[in-house]
Order: sequence, then structure tokens, then C-alpha cells
Amino acid sequence: MSAPGHGVLLLGGTADARRLAASLAEAGVPVTSSLAGGVAAPALPAGDVRIGGFGGASGLAAYLLEARVAAVVDATHPFAARITAHAWEACGLAGVPLLRLQRQGWADRPDAASWRWVDSLDAARGAAEALGGRPFLATGRQSVPAFAAWAGRYVLLRVVEPPDAVPAGWEVLCARGPFAVDDESALLSGRRVDVLIAKDSGGPTAAKLDAAARLGVPVVMVARPRLPAGVQVTDSVADAVAWAAAKAGPAAGAAPHRR
Ligand code: NAP
Repeated sequence: MSAPGHGVLLLGGTADARRLAASLAEAGVPVTSSLAGGVAAPALPAGDVRIGGFGGASGLAAYLLEARVAAVVDATHPFAARITAHAWEACGLAGVPLLRLQRQGWADRPDAASWRWVDSLDAARGAAEALGGRPFLATGRQSVPAFAAWAGRYVLLRVVEPPDAVPAGWEVLCARGPFAVDDESALLSGRRVDVLIAKDSGGPTAAKLDAAARLGVPVVMVARPRLPAGVQVTDSVADAVAWAAAKAGPAAGAAPHRR
């Protein structure tokens, strides 16, 4: 029988993860946040922080056992599918309970039925080509290579941090949301955008969708990757705090932890 573990490993890189880290630290639950390390100056969460990959699912499982982690909360971005799959596999291997924290997507918005939903960036490119000639690409800097075929034509790309390389002819805006609907409308009109390409990230950057609806600009929406079957999911930071505190807080029991 294994001994009780120490603290929560919080797979982060999102605002919800930082909120959760702050709440856990405040509640006296030992928490270590893990960041991928791809951002030059990341916003640092409360509690301990480690940076960099684990070396796949087996590396993460080894880390969980070595650090005697009591519970894992995967609060990574909805499109960070690889680390989410690794977390599921590693927690299974190490016998550590896992909770997935991910905010609601935009599928329930009234205008979502009018969007062209696609499953991949490649499909988004094809769908957008059929809808317009002046796209607004809001799918993140990692998505740029999937649209490299659009080099030499006008594309409005908005990113938080600049990508490594930008195809010729593109206009790049570096900005971090949330944005105001009026500003988004002015951006779409001013650049004569005729198709918006976005990922179903959810969260506070929905003003671009409101602006597109207002102006009648078609939207191509990349659907979220599927979660591993069976993973426990919440969209509530408060629920994640309660779950993690029960598994790893000062009052957590001494029984071995299982999913
Ligand atoms: P990914 O494709 O799912 O993961 C790629 C690799 O990066 C993983 O296999 C893992 O390396 C490492 N990794 C990812 N997240 C990690 C974490 N929190 N701690 C330690 N290692 C991590 O991830 P991604 O889409 O590149 O995103 C990277 C990070 O940026 C995530 O933490 C995510 O929350 C954040 N982010 C992503 C997006 C997005 O649109 N994808 C948007 C905003 C923020 P090993 O296999 O070596 O362990």
C-alpha cells in the first residue's frame, strides 16, 4: 500500500490555472504549477512552479511517483491535447487521481449554429478559402504553419506573442484579450475582413464573435479536440479547489489515492 502523496501538480498555462493555484495556495494546499516553457515571460502562478516538458507520459508518471504527487489537475488550454492525453495516461500508470479543469466553449452561443465547424486547422483553411479572401486568423501563433500556403496574400493575424516567422503579406497584431465588441467591429470593418477563423477556446475573447455576428462576417470555428474517455471534468475553479483540497489538503485522508 502506497503512502499518501504530497500536494497537487497543476498542469497550467491558462488564466484558470493561475486562479486555481492562488486559491489552493490560500487554502494551504501545497501546489506545484507546471508550465510548458514555450512563452518567454509567462505570468507566474502562486505556489511552486516548475517549467518544461516531462518527457512524455512515462516521464510524467515517473515525476508523479518521484515527487509523491497526491493529485493532478490538468488545467491546460482546451487545445493542448498532447499534455492532456499524457496526463491521463501518466495518472493511470502512477495511480494518481486526475481532474480536468476546462472552461466552457462557445458551442452554446446562439450564433454557433451559423458557424462553419471544422475539426482541424487544415480543414479551417479549406473552409475559409471558400468563404472569403481577407481572413482574420485568430487561432494562435502555433497555427501559423498550417496557413503557410496563404503567403503572399493579405491575412490579418492576431496573436499574444509574435510567431517565429510570418508569411509575406500578412499583417500581425500582437494583443492580449479581452477585447471590446466595438473595437473588434472597427477592426473587422477597417481591415475589410470577410471571414474569421477561430478555435473554440471559450473564455474572454468572444468579442470577435459578437463583432462578426454584428457585421455578418462568416466564422470558421475549429472544434475542440476530444478529451480522453473517462476523464473527470469540471469547468468550475471552485469545484477544482474543493476536489484538490480533498485529495491533498491538510485534512486529506491517509488512504492511497485512486481515480
Ligand atoms: P501540447 O501540444 O498539448 O503539449 C506539447 C508538449 O509540451 C507536451 O507533450 C509536454 O511535453 C509539454 N507541455 C505542455 N503543457 C505543459 C505543462 N503545462 N507543463 C509541462 N509540460 C507541458 O501543448 P501546447 O498546445 O503546445 O500548449 C503548451 C502550453 O501552452 C500548455 O501548457 C497550454 O496550457 C498553454 N496554452 C496553449 C494554447 C493552445 O492554443 N494550444 C493556448 C494558450 C495556452 P512532454 O511530452 O515533454 O511532457
